[in-house]
Amino acid sequence: MVYDLISIGAHPDDVEVGTGGVLIALNKRGYKTGIVYLTAGEMGTGGTPEIRAGEAVSAAHVMGSDLIYTYDWGDTRLFDSYEKRIELAGLIRKYRPTIILAPYPQTGHGKRQSHPDHVAAGQIIINAANYATLKKMPIPGEPHLIKRIFHYFLPPGVSPSFVVDITEHFEQWIEALKCHQSQFLNPEKSRDYIWTLESMARAFGIQAGCRYGQGFYHIEPLRIADLFDLVK
Ligand SMILES: [Zn+2]
Repeated sequence: MVYDLISIGAHPDDVEVGTGGVLIALNKRGYKTGIVYLTAGEMGTGGTPEIRAGEAVSAAHVMGSDLIYTYDWGDTRLFDSYEKRIELAGLIRKYRPTIILAPYPQTGHGKRQSHPDHVAAGQIIINAANYATLKKMPIPGEPHLIKRIFHYFLPPGVSPSFVVDITEHFEQWIEALKCHQSQFLNPEKSRDYIWTLESMARAFGIQAGCRYGQGFYHIEPLRIADLFDLVK
């Protein structure tokens, strides 16, 4: 089974927060998208791995993604390693995505954005994508070269390379976020997470001239054929 795009996060809810609106938009356009979490999120203040796994399934259903795969690589203990690269490269070879969405791979001084697991996830993903192309590596499946990795969870000071307009899918995105009740609607937590996440989408939207957006960083220049594709 080939997937057009796989969005990968460190914890259940990362993908939803950073890329959920984009997944909804792509799924509506007929693209096939999958979700991968590198840990079960057992160190989150709210919920348990079982509760969080159930919430992730509900959110994936709302977003329209039919693949969820969760590694158990240890919440707060996530580090880049040869073994993890090999394992994730096997998944990349199996599902053969054209695009991967991944957390930004360097640390910043923000709060959520620079959770060390997010940074480690970004590094593991970049390296696994490289290993997936190498024929002699001890990885099951045929070598596969993804076309692009776009990064979400941008630390302060890193501007998005582009913003995806999610205005049309905003309500559905919020619905997906609300599936993560133990994280975002937990009475034991005082912060208004949904307000914060809405504000994040507004902030990206303002930068790009739309109501709500999700921002991504790409390390290489994007190649285009028609300059007017940029002003549609
Ligand atoms: Zn996270």
